[in-house]
Amino acid sequence: MKPNITTIPISDLFAQTEGCPICRMYRMLEEQYTEYITGAAMMAPDVRVQTNKVGFCHRHFSMMVNNGPRLSNALLLQTHIDELRKKAFPKKETDAPDKKNLAAIRENAHTCYVCDRIEHDILHLLATVYVQFGADSDFRRQYAAQDFICLDHYALVTSSFNKKAMDKQTAQEFFRVTNKLSKGYMDTLYDDVTHFTTMFDYRNAGGDYKNSKDAIERSVRFLTSYPVDENLK
Ligand SMILES: [Zn+2]
Ligand SMILES: [Zn+2]
Repeated sequence: MKPNITTIPISDLFAQTEGCPICRMYRMLEEQYTEYITGAAMMAPDVRVQTNKVGFCHRHFSMMVNNGPRLSNALLLQTHIDELRKKAFPKKETDAPDKKNLAAIRENAHTCYVCDRIEHDILHLLATVYVQFGADSDFRRQYAAQDFICLDHYALVTSSFNKKAMDKQTAQEFFRVTNKLSKGYMDTLYDDVTHFTTMFDYRNAGGDYKNSKDAIERSVRFLTSYPVDENLK
């Protein structure tokens, strides 16, 4: 089934509190899209035209290859490779690639069908978040109870903010809570990383690490939106 963002229950997403809620939203959308592309979308010519043109990023290729049928992946690659090989190389074998060839290679490296769709959908979902924040005090409590909002998504939720979705006082409350979830969390990361470094001082031998033991991992997750990738060594 084609992902239908209007059925995504925003309050279910915010009922959980672990990590960043916009990362959870992103994760849910990318799971739905990668499943859709190697599944039902194989029969949707308009989607194939787009995926042949823009391709996928490493992350979303990985999800499709690891979760989707082998044949679907091979068919997607077959037509994508065919389109790209016609654009990426010079016509004459003794020529250097021209600007158009190089632009096609760059486009392949920096575009992704799934990322594009999610970027578009997230803005629609956020529009609902603002409306719910304005209208529903239970939702405001759920929003405030989040662990944190990662740095990238702090920029997203504040820059796409719609002031028509709530009155001025509620908007101030929205920014107070959002700043706390991001700046406040970043301050605790700073304190925890700092505390962690002091534990290497011999004078603190046997001392209490407090919340600092996983400060490195939590900092990477906050700064990059993703946990440390244990497969990268
Ligand atoms: Zn996030
Ligand atoms: Zn992607």
